[in-house]
Amino acid sequence: MRRNLGSRDQCPAIDELASAIESVFPNITLLTTNNVSPATRHTVGLAIDIMLNVTTARERSLAHSMIDIFVSRHAAMLWSDLIYSDYDGHAISYFHVPARAGYGGPRGMLRRNPYTADTRHGDHIHLDYVDWSLKTTGTEFQRNPYLWSDAARTTGFRDTLIADFRRLTGIAPAPQAPLPTWIHGWWQVTWRGDSYYYFFEPNGTAGYTHTRPSNPAQSLRWPQDTGGAWAIGDGSVRVQWNATGSVETFQRGNGSFLTGAWNDRERLTATRF
Ligand SMILES: [Zn+2]
Repeated sequence: MRRNLGSRDQCPAIDELASAIESVFPNITLLTTNNVSPATRHTVGLAIDIMLNVTTARERSLAHSMIDIFVSRHAAMLWSDLIYSDYDGHAISYFHVPARAGYGGPRGMLRRNPYTADTRHGDHIHLDYVDWSLKTTGTEFQRNPYLWSDAARTTGFRDTLIADFRRLTGIAPAPQAPLPTWIHGWWQVTWRGDSYYYFFEPNGTAGYTHTRPSNPAQSLRWPQDTGGAWAIGDGSVRVQWNATGSVETFQRGNGSFLTGAWNDRERLTATRF
């Protein structure tokens, strides 16, 4: 599902790619446009972030399979470059796959090339339609850094991608039943004396971060881990975290307070904010 959309249009190719992902994987968070200033390739509608955490085996497997599809369908999609990562259980390594429009690398086009300067693409695939021959200059660059190329207007690949994605659904994050409204949104959770910030999506996805969110009106954008959450009866919700496999249970309290248990052993508390 696309979140935090900016006010400008996505280029037709990014819109079609996002639509194909949403139709098969509605639980995956997609970030396309935004309203940052100076503008970026995202702001002008030429890029998408597909939120899949490389340290989570199932999400990594899905992300790598999606990248294989984007490479195999490049002749129909005409994207310019994508960035992601790999994980060996200890460290994340980053790569990009150049494809056209001024991108390149020592290992060649449509192959993994090292991207050693990167530290950000451990939790999402970034794919864009930037064409370096259409980069602007001066004050125009602040507002409109890259013009749309003909490739950015490519459409007609949606059904092909959907058929490819359907073959991957066995490794997709499982869709969950909707969560009860009393748990939607942000909670400050205390465990072993430390605070964590949890966000529960109505669709049954949970995420957390160690950093207190500066704007609680926004959903969690960069989760440290994600998990599946589901209701048990009327008054409790269970979460299973993807990276650790820990299971936590929260009991409904007085509206702004929850009590919980970590792996059925240790006490958790949660306060609404
Ligand atoms: Zn991006």
